[in-house]
Amino acid sequence: MTRGIEGGCRCGAVRYRLALDALPRSYACHCLDCQTWSGSAFSQQVVIAESAFTVTGPIALYELTSPSGRISRQRVCATCHTRIYNTNSVRPGLVVVRAGTLDRSDQLHVVAHIWAKRKQPWLVIADDVPRWPEAPPPEELLATLEHP
Ligand SMILES: [Zn+2]
Ligand SMILES: [Zn+2]
Repeated sequence: MTRGIEGGCRCGAVRYRLALDALPRSYACHCLDCQTWSGSAFSQQVVIAESAFTVTGPIALYELTSPSGRISRQRVCATCHTRIYNTNSVRPGLVVVRAGTLDRSDQLHVVAHIWAKRKQPWLVIADDVPRWPEAPPPEELLATLEHP
């Protein structure tokens, strides 16, 4: 029996699988970095244990050290440069996947919004969806993704 939730890049060279039975819940980050990096209004992401994530294909790495010393490792398709996922030294063991690369991205729910103070003014967040003006403590966000 095949199990898993799959996704990949625009050109098809990179494919990945999440060892889950159902789609994970996603969140939106409206920070300026995510707007710039996605070329869009926000970045939609899911968080998964690194042990439940497998990827194949040509991956290029972009490593970025923040002023506070956190190391973000961003992975893109080396052929078409689609952003796929990243890890961060402050969240060992976790992978943050760009949710729009999931094959079933049309079935995702956004259950939390972070950096809401930077959101585009036309974007209206429903009253019953949790939001934080900036970045919440990671454990708060993870708890919301598990139990919205
Ligand atoms: Zn590609
Ligand atoms: Zn962001």
